[in-house]
Amino acid sequence: MSFLPFTRPSIDEESIAGVADVLRSGWITTGPKCREFEAALSELFGGRTVRAFNSGTVTMETALRLLDIGPGDEVITTPMSWVATANVILAVGARPVFVDVDPATRNIALDKIEEAMSHRSRAIIPVDLAGLPVRREHLYDIAAEYNVRVVEDAAQAIGASSDGRLIGSFGDYISFSFHANKNLTTTEGGCLVLPEDADAELIARCERLRLQGVQRLADGSMEVMEPGGKANLTDVAARIGLGQLPHLAAFTARRRELARRYFDWFDANGGELLEMGLELPPRDFENSNWHMFQPLLPLDRMSIGRAEFVKRMAEKEIGVGVHYPAMHLFKLYRGLGYEEGDFPHAERVGRETVTLPLFPAMDDGDVERVCSALKDILLQNKK
Ligand SMILES: *Cc1c(COP(=O)(O)O)cnc(C)c1O
Repeated sequence: MSFLPFTRPSIDEESIAGVADVLRSGWITTGPKCREFEAALSELFGGRTVRAFNSGTVTMETALRLLDIGPGDEVITTPMSWVATANVILAVGARPVFVDVDPATRNIALDKIEEAMSHRSRAIIPVDLAGLPVRREHLYDIAAEYNVRVVEDAAQAIGASSDGRLIGSFGDYISFSFHANKNLTTTEGGCLVLPEDADAELIARCERLRLQGVQRLADGSMEVMEPGGKANLTDVAARIGLGQLPHLAAFTARRRELARRYFDWFDANGGELLEMGLELPPRDFENSNWHMFQPLLPLDRMSIGRAEFVKRMAEKEIGVGVHYPAMHLFKLYRGLGYEEGDFPHAERVGRETVTLPLFPAMDDGDVERVCSALKDILLQNKK
């Protein structure tokens, strides 16, 4: 039996041929394909202005810079995310203020945001963990009440929606990642959806921050306006993204179907496991894009730890991921004064979470193979 990874990109032959065409064209860095990709993303997001970047980290950092958030400012976010989410806050010189997660959704607990607000609060960065969106209506009510901006870390949420509205088609700043493991990939890459009222100056500044702060002037000369970075997306990468977009709806539908199969299997065969305390993710087939399928292991009832569980699954040719340890317990953030016990729900998720295989090219039978292996290992190591 071949190894089943927890995720694998689906790149079609047409995209591979398209990449070869770009490579032969003589123009391989940012150019026409990148602009075409931005236009296609804009169309997906209902006409909003979109700019492509080389990561979904720099997109968030750029949004914070466009909002002039920096030293002395605070940005509220969740400790249950990839470390990029808090690192960008530190990168602009502001302070990340963590708020615990809701144990049901594992996303930032909206009803706890209020307690974290101070006169220094400038923005909220919500994260749609595993592609399950934070409820946007409620989130934007809070942001409006406290007069703070929102930079959505929708890195995992392309194709997902909130109350029937596609993530990216509404809201303040929305950041997506096209990293290899995301639901839509350009190998590495990302895009930033600018606010609805973005004017020519904001768009120009966004482009400057993407490329060395350089402004091209009408007479053909250039000026350097501020210390920008180097974060442009290549045409090679953009061509891959263009080949992914037509499949996005099918990718999402297939992911939802596979998630359903996981639930169906646990409903039929998982009684003993649920009894033991295995916790399944929220059942949502409307909003989530099922970027990941993440049960929480019943570690108190197991005689082996999570690392050993992951190893035993690998021995059965099944890849299992860990996304993510609670962020505030890493040294960098402990240095800001955070410690064990601050966010008990995020800490528990961080200890117990495992990511099971789920990607569009997976076979239906793979779900059963994963679940049977998980069941065998848990029941053999019950305490
Ligand atoms: C992937 C990811 C990022 C970072 O995206 P990159 O494109 O790898 O820079 C940020 N936040 C979350 C929640 C992610 O999953």
